[in-house]
Amino acid sequence: MIAVGIVGLGKIARDQHLPAIAASPDFTLAAVASRHAHADGVPGYADLETMLSAEPGLEAVALCQPPQVRHAAARAAIAAGRHVFLEKPPGATLSEVDDLARAADSAGVTLFASWHSRFAAGVEPARAWLADKTITGVDIRWMEDVRQWHPGQDWIWQPGGLGVFDPGINALSILTTLLPCPVWLEDALLEIPGNRSAPIAARLAMRTGDGAPVAARFDWRQTGRQVWAITVETDAGTLVLDDGGNALTIAGARRELPSEREYPALYERFARLIGENSSDVDVRPLKLVADAFLTGRRSSTEAFYD
Ligand code: NAP
Repeated sequence: MIAVGIVGLGKIARDQHLPAIAASPDFTLAAVASRHAHADGVPGYADLETMLSAEPGLEAVALCQPPQVRHAAARAAIAAGRHVFLEKPPGATLSEVDDLARAADSAGVTLFASWHSRFAAGVEPARAWLADKTITGVDIRWMEDVRQWHPGQDWIWQPGGLGVFDPGINALSILTTLLPCPVWLEDALLEIPGNRSAPIAARLAMRTGDGAPVAARFDWRQTGRQVWAITVETDAGTLVLDDGGNALTIAGARRELPSEREYPALYERFARLIGENSSDVDVRPLKLVADAFLTGRRSSTEAFYD
């Protein structure tokens, strides 16, 4: 069993990391670093540095804080010789993630930049089906109600918090895994509330290396039915990945899928990487988002209040 500590006991740590670690045959929760909270039955520390020095047996940490503070934490954990699981997105900038990959490599520890949506039940069957098809177009709709999913999360609206790209990057993580070729950004429009620093909605136009257009629409103002869908047109019919990747329909026929187990699968992958003494740091989804911030047109929109 690998002794792991969680840093940042917020929504994702409680909803997914704690249960996934409790059920894992590979990991045991040995400590938690949190500014405000504690987990029953394990030592709690006010910050990561205190946890690292007090727990020499801690082999790994899962960093579940907002992306803006992840680089400093990951650097400290790597310098202390611990394996690191990064929540998505792996950082606030590409250069800091690059720095972490190099640091982990020289320290001989595992760095895992996780993308949970890639482990949604329909993604691997969709990737396998698409592998020998010609893709002629992709349409992504990731439209949810920010008040329902991110209430009071100030960090998400601040620089580095990504705004609507916080969920949107999940779609891009699936896209970059599904496509058998590269994809790049051609155009972007970001709608930013007058009182915030990050977009509430975005439209992206991308192109695959095979020449197919990819359109993405991310919107946090969706009420009613929530939509997390990717539609892929091919020479053999239409593939639809819905429900964030957990429902799959190919040429009109709904596929039977195993039940959702994204976080258990992430911890299996983390254990395998540690066992193989290797890292997995794929920044392609973050590159597309960074390109949208680099080149996207801005439009100021109605102020947003929680
Ligand atoms: P959250 O509920 O706001 O929790 C983040 C936690 O990080 C806080 O509770 C806090 O924990 C800690 N923290 C440390 N420094 C902080 C700072 N400067 N500002 C705010 N919190 C700070 O956020 P979350 O939804 O769990 O998301 C965390 C990360 O997981 C994000 O990168 C997000 O994209 C990713 N993620 C979220 C979900 C989801 O459904 N919410 C799903 C997948 C991935 P302490 O008080 O314990 O220190």
